[in-house]
Amino acid sequence: MSTINYANSMLHSELADAVGKEFVSSNAADQLGHSIDYYWIPELWHDRGFDNPKPQFIVHPATAQEVAKVMKIANKYKIPVTPWGGGSGSQGGALPMYGGIILDTKRMNKVLHVDTDSLTVTVETGINTQHLEWAIEKKGFSTMHFPASIACATLGGFLAHRGTGVLSTKYGKIEDMVMSVEVVTPTGEIINTLPVPRHASGPDLTMLYLGSEGTLGVITKVTLKIHPIPESRKFHAFLFKNMHEAMTAGANIMRSRLRACVIRLYDEPETEHLIKRVLGIDKKGAYLVFGFDGNEKMVDLEMEAACELCRRQDHEDLGTEMGQSWWDNRYKFFYPPFMFHMPQAFGTLDTVADFAHIENVYWAMKNTVNENFPEARFIGHFSHWYEWGCMLYARFIVEEPPHDPEEATLYYNKIWDMAIRAAIREGGVINEHHGVGLKLGRLMPELYGPAFNILESIKTSMDPNNIMNPGKMGFRC
Ligand SMILES: Cc1cc2nc3c(=O)[nH]c(=O)nc-3n(C[C@H](O)[C@H](O)[C@H](O)COP(=O)(O)OP(=O)(O)OC[C@H]3O[C@@H](n4cnc5c(N)ncnc54)[C@H](O)[C@@H]3O)c2cc1C
Repeated sequence: MSTINYANSMLHSELADAVGKEFVSSNAADQLGHSIDYYWIPELWHDRGFDNPKPQFIVHPATAQEVAKVMKIANKYKIPVTPWGGGSGSQGGALPMYGGIILDTKRMNKVLHVDTDSLTVTVETGINTQHLEWAIEKKGFSTMHFPASIACATLGGFLAHRGTGVLSTKYGKIEDMVMSVEVVTPTGEIINTLPVPRHASGPDLTMLYLGSEGTLGVITKVTLKIHPIPESRKFHAFLFKNMHEAMTAGANIMRSRLRACVIRLYDEPETEHLIKRVLGIDKKGAYLVFGFDGNEKMVDLEMEAACELCRRQDHEDLGTEMGQSWWDNRYKFFYPPFMFHMPQAFGTLDTVADFAHIENVYWAMKNTVNENFPEARFIGHFSHWYEWGCMLYARFIVEEPPHDPEEATLYYNKIWDMAIRAAIREGGVINEHHGVGLKLGRLMPELYGPAFNILESIKTSMDPNNIMNPGKMGFRC
């Protein structure tokens, strides 16, 4: 037995001791399954027969205590640990770039406590998000977290990426839903943040972990707000002459402080491309849908006030049926046959800005892509709305990217670099809910400026051996 094999088998024994022999794997199928997420580049590498970076071991701990043991072993051997939830992330965040251990969280999937006084649920973070919703619904409540990947992503993945669901306009992004978290630190301590999110006892430690993408620890437990299932939820759709008219209507709804649960606006090309194919509305213009939920009388009043605001712009009223149809088909947009796939190259240039900048961000990205990559198609919709602005879910699609994987990677990254820099110049932030991962790490110093040094020093002091998800979020490898 060579020295390397000997060291490996010692490590294997220690991991088996920590989590149980049947919960440590180093078989080739598991390694392959944990080498591709939803990022286009590893899909490309795989498609072209490249050997994607693979983990040595995949471990499946069942408790925070077992996670802590794994972290201590990894520190001792100074080998990387990368948390893995559903592997549905689009940024390469869960890829084991430097091998080591994949820490799969899916066995930590218990709903621990539903507090019907405070309306909160305490749950382990490896739970499938749809399973959590079903468990809560049985008790007459909802998390109100409905992302398109609800069936394939874990709650921990959303916390780690600051993800968002379709009802975010009223109920918030995942970070707005959190009361507190339990985390296993990179050095293997189990800590809890303060139990309520509003206090003046120092800075908000909970927020440090939300969006940390497995680089600062493993989030093992969370207490989330839950909500009564609303008596009524209604939708209405309008078609506007162009995106500017539709944006004015959407922004007016938010500026009037009506509490829509959804506003979604599709630019003209996406209206023509996707709204036509998914909803069968064959019209030119910019499609906008909104919804309200809660007490029925309030819903009707708010709905009428929002319609009134929309009628001030150049519009065609599509009515409630065309709004309801969007809600009924809301996930279809993201799955076959409507989703893009190999050999097409595609990317979601998810960017957020305030109302004063969002239209300029849109045009800057669109013009940059159109002028520099005439073979690319640019489509976009605006999905998560705030009192002050909204998110642009822009996408580029290239039917035939270069076949050579090296060339294709350079080409793909060039589109991202140019489009994202155009957005930053116009006051946009990359990004709103997909996270940074491997894909956008190189742009973090540009986005943050000198403030990125603060993030770097937090990472260095919390993870002295740099074992947690190295190579991600722009941190030093
Ligand atoms: C079809 C489709 C639709 C999508 N729609 C949406 C959408 O509507 N909204 C949205 O926000 N996203 C969406 N996404 C993206 C993706 O689902 C999210 O980014 C989700 O948060 C990833 O969760 P996951 O469990 O799959 O995480 P993974 O992909 O497994 O991991 C993502 C990152 O989180 C880290 N991580 C995972 N668990 C933990 C943990 N417990 N502690 C610390 N770090 C951890 C990983 O190391 C990695 O860096 C979509 C993806 C697909 C494929």
